[in-house]
Amino acid sequence: MENKLLEFWDYKLFIEQLNNEKHRNSFINMLCEVAELEFLSKLPREIGEDKLISYINKMNAKYNAQYDSHYLKERWVKIFKSQLYNSVTEAVLIILKRDKNKCQYCNRINKLQIHHVIPKDEKRYRGVNSYYNLVVACEQCNHEISNAIYIPQNWWHLHPESKHCPNY
Ligand SMILES: [Zn+2]
Repeated sequence: MENKLLEFWDYKLFIEQLNNEKHRNSFINMLCEVAELEFLSKLPREIGEDKLISYINKMNAKYNAQYDSHYLKERWVKIFKSQLYNSVTEAVLIILKRDKNKCQYCNRINKLQIHHVIPKDEKRYRGVNSYYNLVVACEQCNHEISNAIYIPQNWWHLHPESKHCPNY
């Protein structure tokens, strides 16, 4: 998939992508990842890692989903337990450097902001200021994505900087 903001909330484009043989698989994968993140955002933060697997299984039953609990546990820990920052300001330099000072959705290099992949929205998602949940986005992408979940390219392959992120 091209590295630009795909307005997947645009219904027409959505159908086009689904009907496009070449893009279908990556598009479906992307939608699955979004569903997975929605699912992860429903897990309580305060739960111990030892109880996470059984909790994910309960959630699977409740939402009639069949996620691989070990795989999901890894991702949950990565997002919510990787280096946490007390404020976005504290994270700005680290995240800007990691993302090479460009928007991770459209590669723009001006009007950059820090974006939450899982939104901060207290009621629904409760995204955190963590190493993996923060990415650089330009003002326009940040605004367009708003409270949707949209995964930047290569998000799961981000390399942590060991100095700031001892566990990951
Ligand atoms: Zn952008």
